[in-house]
Amino acid sequence: MNQIMDSHCHWDHPHLQTLQPALWQSCLDHGVGQLLVPGTQFNRFSSQVALCETNEKWHLALGLHPYFCDQHRPEHLLGLEHLLNHSQAVAVGEIGLDFAIDMTREAFSQPNQEQLFIEQVCLASRVELPIIVHCRKANDRMAQILRQQRFGQGGIVHAFSGSLQQAQAFTNLGFKIGLGGTLTYHRAQAMRRLSVALPLADIVLETDAPDMPMAGGQEGGEYPNRPDYLPRVLDVLASLRPESIAQIAHQTHINTLQVLNLPMMI
Ligand SMILES: [Zn+2]
Repeated sequence: MNQIMDSHCHWDHPHLQTLQPALWQSCLDHGVGQLLVPGTQFNRFSSQVALCETNEKWHLALGLHPYFCDQHRPEHLLGLEHLLNHSQAVAVGEIGLDFAIDMTREAFSQPNQEQLFIEQVCLASRVELPIIVHCRKANDRMAQILRQQRFGQGGIVHAFSGSLQQAQAFTNLGFKIGLGGTLTYHRAQAMRRLSVALPLADIVLETDAPDMPMAGGQEGGEYPNRPDYLPRVLDVLASLRPESIAQIAHQTHINTLQVLNLPMMI
């Protein structure tokens, strides 16, 4: 069976936890042997950390997500820096810019989002960790900021949406491109073309569970996605690209481990 890692799963989400322990067993049965669990808000960090401490295959990213700009406080950055000392913390995230949300609200204005993002990019540089990036309608600005900040730790652009040129701006900065459930939709032709045009060495796989439903799922419901669905992304990628499914699984897995500075774990 192909061993793969879900590079973006909100494993601490209450919905996914109600499906435990059967869900983790199903992940293992589907070859999904490791997860990166990104953080979003300071008040969720302690339960997220406690959960990941119960299994060394559940890796931590901690960060202040742009969706919650109205809830973040300056002291949360200090708390974040302290928690990043945790031995299972492998990245700062998810952090980013979301220019698709209503930016007329002061807390979500472009300057506020950029300030929070830059502060966390600087933090990641100080603690020498890669970043997990959420970026909507902001690819060019984000790449510009990362260049201006001379950010050298790399990371993952999660659920990437954009042009090949924009993807290359990120890969030139040491980032991997996160591909997920969007790819499973036939109508996502631009994404599918991008997934073929990118070098395999630049791609990592993700679900973003429990959000982002995949095509063809009868599951539906409020939380339609699960990390054990990750092989569906792999299957679609293998149907589009010239490499074998085993090659794609192996290389994307190595890409994920490398960018997160994780050792090869069986
Ligand atoms: Zn996410």
